[in-house]
Amino acid sequence: MSDQCVFCRIVRNEASRSAIYEDDEVLAILDFRPVSEGHTLVIPKKHYENIFEIPEEEAAYLFRIVKKIAGAVRLGVNADGISLVQNNGKAANQVVFHLHVHIIPRYEGQKSSRPREVVEANFLDKVADRIRESVLTEHTL
Ligand code: ZN
Repeated sequence: MSDQCVFCRIVRNEASRSAIYEDDEVLAILDFRPVSEGHTLVIPKKHYENIFEIPEEEAAYLFRIVKKIAGAVRLGVNADGISLVQNNGKAANQVVFHLHVHIIPRYEGQKSSRPREVVEANFLDKVADRIRESVLTEHTL
């Protein structure tokens, strides 16, 4: 855990978040600057800077949850496709240095260069509700 790390603060509930899923090891939240509606971040609760630091077993568990959440996001926001993105290092466009996996809904005809704008927390909460419903109805976590 790091005091400086924004994701560690979110894990400790010291920063606002729209959570979709949480267990002892993993937290899934909506990105507050989404590439598209339903853009979700899945993060290990323990602070690992990148994919090279996390033990293999924990990485395996993380990606098991990523698979389940990706399905729930797809249903929750009616996406035509889902991109999974996981950046390691500045050269790979990693911005927050706490390992995370992006689940990005894609839509037919959507431009990929859309600027990322901050979205209101209560709007995010509504999207989170829809995705959580999909987690509960379609997936047994
Ligand atoms: Zn952290």
